[in-house]
Amino acid sequence: MKVIEHIAKAKKSLFSFEILPPLRGRDIQDIFYTLDPLMEFCPPFIDVTYHREEFLYVEKENGLLQRKKISRRPGTVGICAAIMNKYGVDAVPHLICGGFSKQMTENALIDLNFLGIDNVLVLRGDPLKSEKSFIAPENGHKYAVELVKQVKDLNLGKYIDTTFVEKKEFPLFDFCIGVAGYPEKHLEAPNMESDLFFLKRKVEAGANYIVTQMFFDNKKFFSFVEKCRSEGISVPIIPGIKPISSKKQLNSLPSRFYLNIPNELVKEVEKAKNKKNVSHIGIEWAIHQSKELKNSGAEVIHYYTMDRPENIYKIVQAIY
Ligand code: FAD
Repeated sequence: MKVIEHIAKAKKSLFSFEILPPLRGRDIQDIFYTLDPLMEFCPPFIDVTYHREEFLYVEKENGLLQRKKISRRPGTVGICAAIMNKYGVDAVPHLICGGFSKQMTENALIDLNFLGIDNVLVLRGDPLKSEKSFIAPENGHKYAVELVKQVKDLNLGKYIDTTFVEKKEFPLFDFCIGVAGYPEKHLEAPNMESDLFFLKRKVEAGANYIVTQMFFDNKKFFSFVEKCRSEGISVPIIPGIKPISSKKQLNSLPSRFYLNIPNELVKEVEKAKNKKNVSHIGIEWAIHQSKELKNSGAEVIHYYTMDRPENIYKIVQAIY
């Protein structure tokens, strides 16, 4: 079922979450350990991130370093299929521009359609560590809006190359399309107005809902929603929440994702004596945020597990 149908049918605020495929070499069982406890709360859909190949250095037997192009977390589509199979819950694969030609994207969408996947979260992807700024793949897309258009076109039965397409009277595809939104603006955007302008273009191109980047101050989210609505963006906006789980994140999250962590939270985390204490503070903060979002009428609250499902369990247990 589509994410927007889940939202339309819901009688109360829903909870969903995002997981990362396990590191290359690990077992799918890792994912099931993450998911099993969370299933108690009946998430209507689960997102699975996509990790493109990047240049990594691996140590050879002789101790020398070798540069290899590899994805450390492959398996997004397989995990989506496994989730649907094991739990009967909708899986939402993330689909990115990075590393994909239009033809590869089309083939990936055909796979997803054959697997019975109804939703995709369409993203541009970050630049590779070796790139100063994002470089569009050959015959691929530079911005998420272009990828949204491709998915939408396929929904209308328009393949990128019609040479070998069997004619059907009706389109085979009907993906529900999600896109990313940034309550504190995207890192590369010169200002919020510009970022909202391009967000609106993604919606006009066919996006059905927005999931936000994590934020730690609900006022930022409420103001973002207000701005979106006044720009005429009327699709559901799903807030993204992540509990702080280490002191290191006080620096790494703001610099990596361009977001602000309120002073009050920073001070509390800094005072924490150990990791367990930090997690407790992060969880309590996220519970407070979630309660407020729920009371304000959020249709879904989306959690970033980032390999820490036990923290999400504690939050959701307190909320749902
Ligand atoms: P876009 O919407 O293309 O925007 C990128 C930047 O370009 C913005 O600054 C925007 O303002 C600007 N812009 C947009 N269109 C134009 C235009 N036509 N002309 C000029 N400027 C323009 N990354 C992954 O690799 N895998 C994942 O699974 C993943 N999941 C994510 C899930 C969520 C909920 C979020 C919020 C992010 C996720 N990301 C993921 C990270 C995401 O790929 C990065 O934030 C990326 O840098 C931007 O992606 P986007 O889809 O927002 O890009």
